[in-house]
Amino acid sequence: MERFLKNSIFLFIIIIALLLFLLIYRIFPFSVYWQQLFEYFEEVEVQEQEPAPIPPSKTQTRASLFMVGDALIHSAVYADADTGNGYDFRPMIEEVKKISKDYDLAFYNQETILGGSELGLSSYPRFNSPYEVGDAFVDAGFNLVSLANNHTLDRGETAILNSHRYWGKHPDVKTAGSFSSWDDFNQPNIGEVNGIRYAFFAYTDWTNGLTVPSGKEYLLNRYSNELAKQDIEAVRDRVDVVIVSMHFGDEYSLNVSSRQREIATYLASLGVDIVIGHHPHVVEPIEMIDDTLVIYSLGNFISAQRGVEKLTGMMFSLDIVKTTEDGVSKVTLENMKAGLVYTYSDTINGIRRNFKVYPYQNLTEELLPNHEMYYNKYMDLILQNVSNVERW
Ligand SMILES: [Zn+2]
Repeated sequence: MERFLKNSIFLFIIIIALLLFLLIYRIFPFSVYWQQLFEYFEEVEVQEQEPAPIPPSKTQTRASLFMVGDALIHSAVYADADTGNGYDFRPMIEEVKKISKDYDLAFYNQETILGGSELGLSSYPRFNSPYEVGDAFVDAGFNLVSLANNHTLDRGETAILNSHRYWGKHPDVKTAGSFSSWDDFNQPNIGEVNGIRYAFFAYTDWTNGLTVPSGKEYLLNRYSNELAKQDIEAVRDRVDVVIVSMHFGDEYSLNVSSRQREIATYLASLGVDIVIGHHPHVVEPIEMIDDTLVIYSLGNFISAQRGVEKLTGMMFSLDIVKTTEDGVSKVTLENMKAGLVYTYSDTINGIRRNFKVYPYQNLTEELLPNHEMYYNKYMDLILQNVSNVERW
């Protein structure tokens, strides 16, 4: 009995103590400290729990792409790059490098073959350029190079093979449109950047009347609907984005030809996402054919041609955006932006010197008088058929 009473008193004291504690906890001003103490233990508890897996319902990744047109290396340009101990073209494009180096992908068309000095350099109409031209573009971050155009065959198979040996030393650069063998031709030209898989092709609609040696058609991708269909269908389901470089159109025409529109429409029907056009030496309007971006002509990037029209080229940039939701991926082209570049040179004792490519926004009246007027003229022309492209 005495033991039962002792236990009851003990239980009673515990209950009173507990009630007293709760009362203090509720009303005392320092209750906040208690609360913090409780929260601390709660936090520890939460941390010890296994985190609940969050289903990744939507992911997005992007790759930036920059594009410029033809590198047309006339004798005046390579003479100006002659250092007395080889050639250095890097200063000529250093203003553009400030922009191009920051892109994941950067495209240009190597219009004149890089056959190297050992073959003897040459200018219009049968060009051959030094390897150092490529060095300058690689240094500026260019890593997508079109080798298919009307000057690819200018100095024959030897120059083409030299060019492939040169580009072969730059595994970070993807070339397209010309190959050194059937084996090379049959390799699918697929790359990956930031988790975005892309295929890159290049074709020319013109060869200046030169023919590809019989049985060696791999040396130059001459455009045909059949070849494009075969190439593109082989990769369309294996990549996120298909990029096609097209050397087409009419020289010095600011208008899109019916042939250009026909080819671009066909490429769009094959599921090509971006058509990068060049050859006319001047810029042409951009169009969207359904979801396909068609840049008909980027114009010249660097050359010794004459006249503002031919010394002005386009630079274009965009983001390739891959959105994956519930295992299904789609690609959209975003942040499209067009601008202009101008190849400056001056003439000393009848010789053109100091070639340098400037983005128009860096031009002064000294470099190109009335450059604002030219900017508006060519930008209005480029953007007349699109509303989703920003001005640089
Ligand atoms: Zn051309």
